[in-house]
Amino acid sequence: MDTQNMDSSLLQDKLTASLEPIHEMVQACIQCGTCSGSCPNEFAMDLTPRRMWRMVIMGQSEKIFESRTFILCSACYSCSLRCPRGLPLTDAMAGLKRIAARENLAPYRRSTLFTKTFLESVRRHGRVREMEFMTLYFSALKNPFIPLQFASLGMRLMRKGKVHPQLPSKGTGKLDALFKRVEELEVAG
Ligand code: SF4
Ligand code: SF4
Repeated sequence: MDTQNMDSSLLQDKLTASLEPIHEMVQACIQCGTCSGSCPNEFAMDLTPRRMWRMVIMGQSEKIFESRTFILCSACYSCSLRCPRGLPLTDAMAGLKRIAARENLAPYRRSTLFTKTFLESVRRHGRVREMEFMTLYFSALKNPFIPLQFASLGMRLMRKGKVHPQLPSKGTGKLDALFKRVEELEVAG
């Protein structure tokens, strides 16, 4: 086995092991499909929520972490409220997002950076400052061509007064302790 294949095999083993808590959350699934029928984002998902839980139960980490399904979950809680087995499906989707972010998996890097920079702006100011957020996000992408794709939209929004030029600032730090505590809980959990 060459080094690349060995690395990939080790990563798959690690991802399969990471699925254990998610597996516990959904193991009582009876595959009724109510979650898929309740999900407002199902039309854009490559695996329906019902199929995603089947993959988790089967330990199919490779297929799960190629899928866009969990990254498209908007945490609306419809599936959790309607699941006849009362399973914590929104938490399970969030758990998959956390694994993808922690392992820095290539298909989800842009989504992960987007979320991180969004939260960084909220941590600094208690709300998102749009222009600062986009500056942080585009800098983190390290690809000068991506901001260019959004330049005309940005100009239109500025002309309409929807966004305003803002220099990034460190903010007040009032939320630092709260964010630190959440990070600790996520590491522990
Ligand atoms: S609604 Fe609940 S029991 Fe039905 S398929 Fe979805 S997770 Fe399984
Ligand atoms: S919580 Fe996520 S998976 Fe569940 S219905 Fe809402 S968008 Fe779909």
